Amino acid sequence: MLEQDIDRVLFTEEQLQARVAEIAAQIDRDYAGKQPLLVSVLRGSFVFMADLVRRITLPCTVDFMAVSSYGSGTTSSGQVKIVKDLSEQIEGKDVIVVEDILDSGNTLSYLLKLLEARHPASIRLCTLLDKPERRTKPVAVQYSGFTIPDEFVVGYGLDYDEKYRNLPYIGILKPRVYGGE
Ligand code: 5GP
Ligand code: MG
Ligand code: MG
Repeated sequence: MLEQDIDRVLFTEEQLQARVAEIAAQIDRDYAGKQPLLVSVLRGSFVFMADLVRRITLPCTVDFMAVSSYGSGTTSSGQVKIVKDLSEQIEGKDVIVVEDILDSGNTLSYLLKLLEARHPASIRLCTLLDKPERRTKPVAVQYSGFTIPDEFVVGYGLDYDEKYRNLPYIGILKPRVYGGE
């Protein structure tokens, strides 16, 4: 049972849904008259992305990109690798990058730079979670779901060693699972 590995629930399904609806409403207001392209950074953001787009009422399009920076550990390796690039061109488009969590900022500072070089009309970042305590690279974030303390969280798309993504809530993983106390 996955449940047994969770120390405590940080955000319930209901809390997540309520916050996602607020973010979607904000995006609806900010992009009125436009047709944003939402770029999901795989794999962690796939659940958030799916919930978010279903709450956005504007016409929007989606695309996916896969990067890896973590391997199976709980801290960033600092190395970002593009595992899968976007399928579409983003030149002239209003891009919203959708991420699960902003931690050191390594992944996103690299990714945003890469996407900006393709000349989108605009680019903004939407992250479900933000762990500002661990930031080493500054990243501007326009939409942020929740600010969280420096704990390793899983669920709602976020994994540890590829597991726990299917938990419907976000919880703090017991340190014994990854070899802590
Ligand atoms: P950064 O490059 O900002 O350090 O890390 C970003 C990526 O690291 C996230 O997209 C996520 O995949 C992973 N990450 C950072 N903190 C956590 C966490 O608490 N839990 C999980 N599951 N992944 C995390
Ligand atoms: Mg991610
Ligand atoms: Mg991961």
